[in-house]
Amino acid sequence: MGNEGIELLFLEPVCTHNIWGGKRLREEFGYPVEGDDLGECWGISAHPEGDGMIRNGSFRGKTLSQMWAEHPDLFGNLPYDRYPLLTKIIDAQDDLSIQVHPDDAYAQVHENGSLGKTECWFICDCKEGAALVIGHNAKTAEELKEMVAEGRWQELIREVPIHKGDFIQIDPGTVHAIKADTLILETQQNSAITYRLYDYGRLQNGKPRELHIDKSLDVITVPAKSAEESVRSLTNLQENKLNQIYTCEKYTVFKLDVNGSAVFEQRFPFLAASVLEGQGSVNGAEVRKGDHFIIPCGYGNVEMKGNMSLILSTVEE
Ligand code: ZN
Repeated sequence: MGNEGIELLFLEPVCTHNIWGGKRLREEFGYPVEGDDLGECWGISAHPEGDGMIRNGSFRGKTLSQMWAEHPDLFGNLPYDRYPLLTKIIDAQDDLSIQVHPDDAYAQVHENGSLGKTECWFICDCKEGAALVIGHNAKTAEELKEMVAEGRWQELIREVPIHKGDFIQIDPGTVHAIKADTLILETQQNSAITYRLYDYGRLQNGKPRELHIDKSLDVITVPAKSAEESVRSLTNLQENKLNQIYTCEKYTVFKLDVNGSAVFEQRFPFLAASVLEGQGSVNGAEVRKGDHFIIPCGYGNVEMKGNMSLILSTVEE
């Protein structure tokens, strides 16, 4: 309980089955879902395709979208028509198709008023020598069109090396894909609008999955941001401090490594928190790897104890 009697909101995640998924979300994170094809855990989500339910306290059983509508004060009375973010953990056991997202303006017109999608990834785990797809090698829009039309994918697609603990910002218009054996935490706008550019020529049930070439070409940024600018390793973060690792118009993301005790003031409209490693407590409530919770507006001082790593997010007022 916070200073003003405000409660933490613990969420019941929604997991999805995907052909490229695996078992880690159940076996390592403890989500009670059957199947060896668990691809995504929507940990903090008010999206209609996975609206998380509060699992504790006075609001138990309410969905996050209901909470947003009925208790705007707990989210700082923000001027958004829906909870603005979506936090996921993604376990890729196979390469994901190569995608690009539109921005708000394009999605508004072409996707029935949906939000666009800006997202970012924190690499929780990957193999030695791992890489992912970010950006492309076309120098002009003309060259991009040509390479796509001629199927010169090897030349077009840019792979960049990654390491555990890296951070990657994916602006709308950025070609991107996770590759096999990568576990990430994704913080994104509350949207599911994705254009599939390339699927490695794979078949699902004997057929290729639908591609969205025209929309992809409409929105891809040319030239792409440099590889060096795309992947950032997070160094010199302080323990027991809320380290801001990224901020943009759509969200601000923090990393917090608790070793012993961390105390800070909740001075944001809300703080969405996910425990990625370890265990401990938040103002006396026990938390462990795989837990997702929201620290509401006006909560006051937050005291975390134990040994754990978290990613947290909020939006600008
Ligand atoms: Zn994406």
